[in-house]
This record gives sequence, structure tokens and C-alpha cells, in this order.
Amino acid sequence: MKRPLFVANWKMNKTMAETQAFMDEFASYQLPETTDVAICAPFIDLAVLANQKVVATGAQDIYPAEAGAYTGEISASMLAECGVKYVIVGHSERRTLLHETDAFVAEKYHYAAGAGFVPILCVGESLAQREAGEAEAWCKSQLDAVFADAQALPDEIVVAYEPIWAIGTGKTATAADAQEMLAALRAHLAALIGEEKAQAARLLYGGSMKADNARALMAEADVDGGLIGGASLKPDSFLALINEGSALSV
Ligand code: PEP
Repeated sequence: MKRPLFVANWKMNKTMAETQAFMDEFASYQLPETTDVAICAPFIDLAVLANQKVVATGAQDIYPAEAGAYTGEISASMLAECGVKYVIVGHSERRTLLHETDAFVAEKYHYAAGAGFVPILCVGESLAQREAGEAEAWCKSQLDAVFADAQALPDEIVVAYEPIWAIGTGKTATAADAQEMLAALRAHLAALIGEEKAQAARLLYGGSMKADNARALMAEADVDGGLIGGASLKPDSFLALINEGSALSV
């Protein structure tokens, strides 16, 4: 079994003081040694998290240019200075609210990888696409956009399958649904980047994952971890999810 990876996506939540308070409590917990844990925090909070060694950190976005006239954006060197390891790209909220295209997501993915970060590529279908039977084809096309013509790949490949209808709604895909999609995506990845890299890739599920459903999701063969919004905002609920999700790997 692969080492599980649980990644918090705090989205636009937590001030610096709230981040410090979270870490003060979280740092007192014993995390399972078999598991990797990361927190993708708002940019200013990354500066607060830079001084701790309890969890890896990640950014929720990156701009694909070194520096310059990009109002409101953040660069690789700024993130590197905060000790960031992961960068989320292609989250459905950015694709929808900020109109990020597949091409821009691909540009960010490869830029982040080239700058030494581990990009976490998010893919996922809407409810209408799922009901129309188009979910798998849609998610595969989101992988194609990033990997079909890739010249170079990061050492660590992380892809999060996040059905849009399950994000923040309390509706979770069943473990069987998550497995079916992630198995299909791993097979598609194998065709795009080769069997060995596809097998080594960590495939995460995201969408209302919590302590109650983490163990069942993690029991599935192709679920290697989770990308977690709501349940990561409180130290105790994030810890409970990590413990439940790690139970089978201890
Ligand atoms: C997310 O936004 O990446 C997410 C999975 O959120 P939630 O866990 O709240 O559904």
C-alpha cells in the first residue's frame, strides 16, 4: 500500500492569528507516522506556517511568471521562501469562479513542477455531466490537457478527483464511485505517462471527506489519500480524519 497523503485545502479561511491558533493545537497531536499530511493555506498564512515542521505546506495557486506586472498574483520564489512543497492547480472553484481554462491550468502545472513544487492537479465533473454519463470522459480530458504533450514530469505526481457536486455539499461520492473513477484515471494516466509513473502517482479523493467516511474511501485500491476542505478547518476534525484514513496503513 502507498503512503497515504491527506491535504487540507483551507480555501479563503483563517487569518494569520487563526492559523497560529490552529497550529498551536495541531502541533500537540501525535500524527500517524505512516501518513503524509499537508496544509494548503492562504498566502499570508503560509508565512505563519513557514516556521513549523509538523506538516508540509502547500499553496492554493501560483502564477506562471517569475515576477512583474501581475497584480494580485504570487510567484514561485515567494512560495519557496515560505517552504512550500505542494501547489494546488485546477481546483474547480478557480476553474468556475475565475474562469481558469484547461490550457492555463496546464501552464501553471508545468510551471510549478519546473520550479520544484509538487503540483496537485484537481479534476472533477459537475452533477449535470455525471447525470449525462460524461463524468469519466470529462475527467480524462482534464488529464489530457496537462499530460498529453508533457515534455517533462515532476518526480511526484498527485491528482485529486473532486466531483464538483460533492465539494462542500456534504454529499460524498460512494467509496465505490471514487474507486471506479480513480481506477479509470490511473489507467488513462498510464496511457499518457507510462505504467510505472501512473502506478506511483498518488490519487486523492476530494469532496466532503470526513472522519466518518475516510476509512471506507481509503480501503479502495486506487484511493491514496484525500484533499479536504471543510473537515480540515478544525484541528480535531482534521486529526480524526487523518487517523481514520490512516487506520488501514498503520
Ligand atoms: C475541496 O474544496 O477541495 C474540498 C474537497 O472541500 P470539502 O472537503 O469541503 O468538500
